[in-house]
Amino acid sequence: MYLDYNATTPLDRRVFEIMAPYMTERWGNSSSPYRFGNQARIALEKGRARVAECIGAETGEIVFCASGTEADNLAVRGVAAALRTRGNHIVTSSVEHHAVLYTCRALEAEGYRVTYLPVDDDGLVGLKELEKSLTPETILVTVMHANNETGVLQPVGEIARIARERGIVFHSDAVQTAGKLPGRLCGTGADLLSLSAHKFYGPKGVGALYVRKGTPISPRITGGPHEHGLRAGTENVPGIVGLAAALALAAESARAEAERLALLRDRFENRVLEAVPGTRVNGRGAPRVPNTSNLSFDAVDGESIVLGLDLGGICVSTGSACSTGDPEPSHVLLAMGLSPKEAQGSIRVSLGRHTEEKELDAAVDTLAQTVARLRAISSI
Ligand code: PLP
Repeated sequence: MYLDYNATTPLDRRVFEIMAPYMTERWGNSSSPYRFGNQARIALEKGRARVAECIGAETGEIVFCASGTEADNLAVRGVAAALRTRGNHIVTSSVEHHAVLYTCRALEAEGYRVTYLPVDDDGLVGLKELEKSLTPETILVTVMHANNETGVLQPVGEIARIARERGIVFHSDAVQTAGKLPGRLCGTGADLLSLSAHKFYGPKGVGALYVRKGTPISPRITGGPHEHGLRAGTENVPGIVGLAAALALAAESARAEAERLALLRDRFENRVLEAVPGTRVNGRGAPRVPNTSNLSFDAVDGESIVLGLDLGGICVSTGSACSTGDPEPSHVLLAMGLSPKEAQGSIRVSLGRHTEEKELDAAVDTLAQTVARLRAISSI
């Protein structure tokens, strides 16, 4: 039973069928001037137009790259470099994905000043704190749309407004919302948005950055005119075709799927709270994406729960897949005020297209047994 859809999702078979010809028959380089190149270029540009339509952008505002991590890097480093002479201050939150957090830390080593905004007990950034942090030197605000560990949705519309009023560029990592929420992402008002195909049933190793027309940004990878000069390198045409198809399919069913998953998630959480004493749901008081549940259990280690559930055939995680093997407690949960012990007693359950009520009910039973067994052992 796979309950870790925030780590990755299975490739939609319909998407695979659409991608396959671009690996086997139409394998041209999209920069070549003859027919193979033209075929690839047409597919690439159709993909770009499709992504733009799904998020409410113009076609020329989409830059394809190799991952969500790369999109985040291009946004943060690209804007920081382009505006270096205007200022050196960046504002982010303390709960960002490492793709943003570590990039900001690296920029600090290069002489930028970074403010890491705190969050409240539910994981929300405060707008007052954000406003207070802004100075004439602030060139970029980067705050994620949904948190990958808790699903908590930041007030990005408000953040975009505050940044725009002051002429500050605003980037949002939308990797965990693209394809999951109805509505067009550009409606958030962000100047830059990061997307990653493998989070919405597309292929791994392909991402996109939305760059609002006129946003100051300079390339991080040089070597050719690809992607409007913002990301050199021969485009991954099958991957891009796959990303675009997956996003369009996800957008078609986003509203119904979001409603279905929210019901399943709420039922799951209520049943766990009933069945397992000493449990809390992190971020429950905040708006959240409908598929994510982050749970803390007293007196047990999250890693042991994950291993115990794996023995029972259930896949969940302790947090970000990128932090697996990291003995440190989650920076997201610590920022929300959990003690290191509480943070270490937490797991993330993330639902998706193939999750059904019956199997989730079975997961609650296995979880309750696993926690009870681990608590019994730890109290010996
Ligand atoms: N940002 C967020 C919020 C994520 O959840 C992830 C992946 O877990 C990434 C960025 C990185 O995306 P990718 O795996 O495509 O590098």
